[in-house]
Amino acid sequence: MNRKNFLKSSILIGTGLFFQGNRFISLMKDNKFTFQELRNGIGFYVNKGGTIGWMIHNDGIVVIDSQFPDTAEIFEDQLKKESSGKINILFNTHHHRDHTAGNTYLVKFAKEIVANKNCVRLQKTRNVGNDLDKNKVYANKTFDKDWSLNLGKERLFAYHFGPAHTGGDSIFHFVNSNVVHMGDLVFNRIYPWVNKEDEASLKGWVDYLDNAINYFDNDAVFIFGHSYTPEKVHGNKTDLKFMRNYIEALLNYVTKEKKDGKTEEQILKTEYIPKFENMKALWKGALQANIKAALIELK
Ligand SMILES: [Zn+2]
Repeated sequence: MNRKNFLKSSILIGTGLFFQGNRFISLMKDNKFTFQELRNGIGFYVNKGGTIGWMIHNDGIVVIDSQFPDTAEIFEDQLKKESSGKINILFNTHHHRDHTAGNTYLVKFAKEIVANKNCVRLQKTRNVGNDLDKNKVYANKTFDKDWSLNLGKERLFAYHFGPAHTGGDSIFHFVNSNVVHMGDLVFNRIYPWVNKEDEASLKGWVDYLDNAINYFDNDAVFIFGHSYTPEKVHGNKTDLKFMRNYIEALLNYVTKEKKDGKTEEQILKTEYIPKFENMKALWKGALQANIKAALIELK
């Protein structure tokens, strides 16, 4: 979608204004994207690909993930309306293109790009062969287990608890406001993207979410990488538990089917995982890809 088309088609369905400090943050919703505040000048942007998280404060701007160059441009246009400042930190939750390809655009406005070291490694080895990979931009600052920074009145913390959705997933916590960006650790009520070649670990995924469920309190607000509708792209610990339980049920189901002597071909004909009949598929073959990953992992 080019910008002209967007401007033409931009219809404000619901507009709310929130006073924050000495500026306004507009809550905009139209038929193309959602740019919405959740708490204390922290919010999310949904367009194409993984959800972008943002913090717009007078003393600092933080952006989590970058989608694609074209949708990152629309995002940056929104950002400009709220603040004239540079992005202090652009953070990547993991290497997938729909979370990092927009780095190419946002790098012009960012002082620093931060990610887990495995995110950068996988971005180099796995994001190849697509037009979007020609001018890849990586984080210039990496970390292993965790990373933190004080920025004005907010404290930022990122964690990497080991392989899960990929080998280099981070979750990002705005500590004082208690808002957490979960990256793709949560596909809210939809079958997740799992590819073992991205160093994904379903067992690791369950552990990762257990860590998060134990660590964060019930006041925390969570932003998720993907959902079926923009309304479901944020939530609470119930949603983390649901995702955790789905991955565990998937592993248990495939384990049992194998034990019962079913062939891989038979198992791949499964139409749903028991108790998860209402999971939605955002793309064709989503459940089969999940089962395939479980079959490889359980070998
Ligand atoms: Zn992903």
